[in-house]
Amino acid sequence: MEAKYDYLIVGTGLFAAVFAYHAKRQGKKCLMIDKRSHTGGNIYCENVDSINVHKYGAHIFHTSNKEVWQFVNSFVEFNRFTNSPLANYKNVLYNLPFNMNTFCKLWGVNTPQQAKEKLDEQRMRYAHIEEPQNLEEQALKLCGEDIYYAFIKEYTEKQWGRSAVDLPAFIIKRIPFRFTFDNNYFNDDYQGIPKGGYNKLIDALLQGIEIKFNTNYFENRSGFDKLAEKVLFTGRIDELFDYEYGELEYRGLFFEHERLDIEDFQGNAVVNYNERKVPYTRIIEHKHFEFGKQPFTIITREYPSEFANDNEPYYPVNDEKNNQIYLKYKEKAKSDSNLLLGGRLAQYAYFDMDDTVEASLNLVKKELSNI
Ligand code: UDP
Repeated sequence: MEAKYDYLIVGTGLFAAVFAYHAKRQGKKCLMIDKRSHTGGNIYCENVDSINVHKYGAHIFHTSNKEVWQFVNSFVEFNRFTNSPLANYKNVLYNLPFNMNTFCKLWGVNTPQQAKEKLDEQRMRYAHIEEPQNLEEQALKLCGEDIYYAFIKEYTEKQWGRSAVDLPAFIIKRIPFRFTFDNNYFNDDYQGIPKGGYNKLIDALLQGIEIKFNTNYFENRSGFDKLAEKVLFTGRIDELFDYEYGELEYRGLFFEHERLDIEDFQGNAVVNYNERKVPYTRIIEHKHFEFGKQPFTIITREYPSEFANDNEPYYPVNDEKNNQIYLKYKEKAKSDSNLLLGGRLAQYAYFDMDDTVEASLNLVKKELSNI
């Protein structure tokens, strides 16, 4: 019997949506299923009285990949939002990423020259570390003691639920370091939030595609597989293979949303709380992503949490042990030529949104001709 669809796509997040868009354009018939009641995966926003609430954590699109930027801009216009988070440490606010504003407040220095001298003095004790073996070594080598102990150690250990010496160094490499008064958190060429929110982007990508909601692939896997020639799976790779090589670890998150009858709570979209004794890692004030002028506001406290199978897997824990397990699953997946994998969960990778779009476009180029 011939399958009814060319592709069954499990999940409707960004990776899945980009692939589905191109597949449809090439005349392929796709069926998408999602266990949630909405599309978009974790970039989904809930519109609450005209404020787009980032329900699964703040998402800020940034990229230096022109192809990716042009691709997403062909569906929705992006606003001029620039992420410039603050760090609250012992009730004092400092600018992030670490830049001249931070150094001025922390050390009372006024020029790049003075800041560099101070930083060199701080880093000197760690100059012998050639290849940092963990996040602590990486951070001390990069920033020295003052910055590490005020802004990094406690925040990181709270966020990841483990000691900084047990975390991979690459996590901290995400944070830029500069000697100008530039509070832009990202170094990328392009940045912004879709005007009208992320749902607009996803809706545009998925226009005309058949989607079944509240549908769990694992409840009728063989039935779903029969429907299509190929399966693109964007869920957890370890679950796909019945945890044969063990469970992959994730970091969970817990969000506490609150509506306040004041116009402005913190004057900024993101404020980090860097002390361990504050239980949340950051407070997001959603209206600032889109320059909202509403007379009220909605904030979200983001708490790190242990991941258990009944909550959402947010961050892959890409340490040596987990990466080894992932590679076994990846190898196993190769034996099924009708199975395609993609996205943060199936590739077990700390993807930003632009990485996700890029990875999906790469799959499109491999799998579908003529784009
Ligand atoms: N980080 C930190 N202090 C901060 C912000 C970030 O130590 O104030 C570290 C922390 O280890 C975190 C990593 O940098 O996991 C990456 O942070 P980012 O905010 O880029 O990650 P996100 O959670 O937004 O993906």
